Amino acid sequence: MQPLFSRGDWRTPGEPTEVVNPFDGAVIDTVPTADAAEVDAALGVLTDGAGAMRAMNPRDRAAILFHASDQIAADAEEWGARICAEGGKPITEAIGEAKRAAETLRLSAIEAERIGGEVLPIESAPNGAGKLAFTRRVPCGIVAAITPFNFPLNLVCHKVGPAIAAGNAILIKPAGVTPLSALALTRLLLECGLPEEAIACLTGPGGELGEAICGDRRVRKITFTGSDAVGAKIIAAAGVKRVTMELGSNCPVVVFADADLPAAATMLAKQATANAGQVCISVQRVLVEQAAHAEFRGLLADAFASLKTGDPADESVDVGPLIRSSDADRVQEWLDEAVSAGATRVCSGERDGSLLTPTLLDGVEPGMKAYDDELFGPACGLRAFDSEEEAVCMANETRYGLAAGVLTRDLSRAIRLSESIDAGVVNLGPGTEGSGPQYRADLMPYGGLGDSGLGKEGPRYAVEAMTELKCIVMHP
Ligand code: NAD
Repeated sequence: MQPLFSRGDWRTPGEPTEVVNPFDGAVIDTVPTADAAEVDAALGVLTDGAGAMRAMNPRDRAAILFHASDQIAADAEEWGARICAEGGKPITEAIGEAKRAAETLRLSAIEAERIGGEVLPIESAPNGAGKLAFTRRVPCGIVAAITPFNFPLNLVCHKVGPAIAAGNAILIKPAGVTPLSALALTRLLLECGLPEEAIACLTGPGGELGEAICGDRRVRKITFTGSDAVGAKIIAAAGVKRVTMELGSNCPVVVFADADLPAAATMLAKQATANAGQVCISVQRVLVEQAAHAEFRGLLADAFASLKTGDPADESVDVGPLIRSSDADRVQEWLDEAVSAGATRVCSGERDGSLLTPTLLDGVEPGMKAYDDELFGPACGLRAFDSEEEAVCMANETRYGLAAGVLTRDLSRAIRLSESIDAGVVNLGPGTEGSGPQYRADLMPYGGLGDSGLGKEGPRYAVEAMTELKCIVMHP
């Protein structure tokens, strides 16, 4: 069993929970199941840890993060293999996630040394003569990081890195199905010099554990990435606490006839099926100009057909399993429902346990779950539009707003659409590699509108969200 880390030590409370490889169902490890009592005890020690972190020189906080970043970069293949085994992510993508995690910690380390404040023009206030006022950013105290299964390392780093940079203690609650990367990260950070009272990593399913964490007043900031349903529960439980919510999505991409259609098809097929479509910025709705509809459908169908589905540990595989067989059931149901409601299945989704081969639908529209809700599977739907205005309406036909793409060679049109599409990030380009909604560099401000969430991640923005702005006034 992999012990969890709490109260300054490695422990094995509760019943063991199995960690299962989503591809073949093999049990790869077991982890303890923490409960509300463990949360209470962990927070007692983290309270001391928050004091230790606040007292630590920012340069020393940066050094811990730089060191951890270097270690992950050096051992990216080992970290990738762990991500692949616990999350079913194809190995090349999983190693890519490990390299991004190293970058996220490096960016966080840089931020640790940039936290400052500003001098206020207090003299200009009617009652400000002779005074000096300035702001400082001070740590929140204890930050709770609740993370999803689909990026079990990098999304933990997006919370833990800025929390340490900002001088907070951190309580990690990784996804119940993918706890191993977070435990390994905890071990690494301790080896790199993080005080043992400043971190805890509590494994187990979300319910009792999550509620105990979110309802506790000692937690001053909750940073959550996951579904909007769970996000809503956390907001309800949090009371007066700072929250950052990185929630679900339903990404549109608008493809004009002047785009580089062959390149766009290859790129969008990848961005619809990476990690079996279980990426918060997966391409879900492809809105294509009527004049290019038939041609683009053919190109996209070919691109989908060229993807290889299978064992994620095999380097030649593009599409691995869904996290659970029940998720493949749900995705299949939604696709079948769309077909019964009038959509056409251009590429069939064949099913084998938790594997689902990529599916392309044509003629998706509102009223179909595959169009309205977050699909989170290796599939996307096409819909034709006649005018730019219609394309914008369709793109905004969602309660989400995390990321979008506009593929065209017409720069003015691209800029116009970037202003009218409601999303946290809008990617513009002719359709070349990486230019769709799934592009993300870890330094970007990242966070959605509408039901996609509250607040921004990206180390610089997360550090702001994990500090309090304190104002100090000196009177003569
Ligand atoms: P999830 O919401 O099921 O679980 C996320 C985390 O919340 C897990 O650690 C889980 O154990 C915990 N949890 C469950 N119930 C809880 C409760 N009552 N209180 C507190 N915590 C609780 O999400 P998932 O299935 O792991 O991940 C997929 C979702 O995450 C998708 O909706 C996806 O779009 C979203 N996501 C968003 C982003 C983003 O940046 N916006 C990034 C990745 C994933």
